[in-house]
Amino acid sequence: MMAKILDGKEIAAKVRKEVSDAVLVLKKNNAKPGLATIIVGDDPASKVYVRNKNKSANELGIESFQYNLENNISEEELLNLIRKLNNNVEVDGILVQLPLPKHINTESVIDAIRPDKDVDGFNVFNAGNLYLNKKGIIPCTPLGCIIMLHTLNLSLKGLHAVIIGRSAIVGKPISQLLLKENCTVTVVHSHTKNIKNFIKQADIVIAAVGIANYVKGDWVKQGSIIIDVGINRITIDGKTKLVGDVDFEEVIKKASVISPVPGGVGPMTITCLLMNTVIQCAKHNNINLNNYFNF
Ligand code: NAD
Repeated sequence: MMAKILDGKEIAAKVRKEVSDAVLVLKKNNAKPGLATIIVGDDPASKVYVRNKNKSANELGIESFQYNLENNISEEELLNLIRKLNNNVEVDGILVQLPLPKHINTESVIDAIRPDKDVDGFNVFNAGNLYLNKKGIIPCTPLGCIIMLHTLNLSLKGLHAVIIGRSAIVGKPISQLLLKENCTVTVVHSHTKNIKNFIKQADIVIAAVGIANYVKGDWVKQGSIIIDVGINRITIDGKTKLVGDVDFEEVIKKASVISPVPGGVGPMTITCLLMNTVIQCAKHNNINLNNYFNF
């Protein structure tokens, strides 16, 4: 049987509809969600990401405050801006686009964001809450993956999830979220021996490696669920193409469910950022959004 393709665009559209409905509720209660985005330097890829985040925010009725800072700005100047935004009541979420220039300590900057405005969920407070299974802001890409899995309407309890990659922004938080779903979780990484042997046992594979077409068809178990987080640019016959960490053409023949690249996890990431911003706006204004975002 052909694998089901987990359409991130379609799922993201449903979440976005809820985000825009929730924004209307906020506005009826005289609250306006605001997202501040900070970009340092002029890395073209970062510029595109931030432009898309601001554009999507505006489409859903979220006000965006954009800060494009020079590459040579000092860490102290950046920290001062964050402190100002932490105290600005019009700002519910603060996003610092990574990577930052080398002379700036990324951890200090991320940890300077007030935890209730850390809509990327990267700072130590939100990471700690996730680790301790407490309420907090969940990083956008891992949250997007979990929402995608929930749309399958199947119990994840007891399934063996193998996560490839252990980064603080993808692999590690996904491992925590899947533990919370009562999966049995294995994290494999660049030092793991015989990776294939682990992936072969997986009911769910989450690939977050950053290597184009890394996971091959003969590595995966028949009927497994594959979520491909990777975004890799490759050139074939002079044409640039986006591909994931999973060899889609091969793996689709074995999987029961597979997310494509592009059009899989990617669209979920920005959507979850906007959802996180709206939820924080509701919290900042004591507005109940319990009827929303029960994914
Ligand atoms: P990262 O470079 O921080 O981490 C990569 C991880 O892969 C590391 O933990 C490393 O140990 C592991 N790894 C490296 N080589 C390996 C190998 N040969 N075998 C097994 N594991 C190996 O990357 P990241 O930020 O976690 O991102 C991973 C991928 O996901 C990238 O392609 C990135 O572009 C993509 N990404 C996508 C989204 C999205 O919105 N879809 C968001 C964030 C990252």
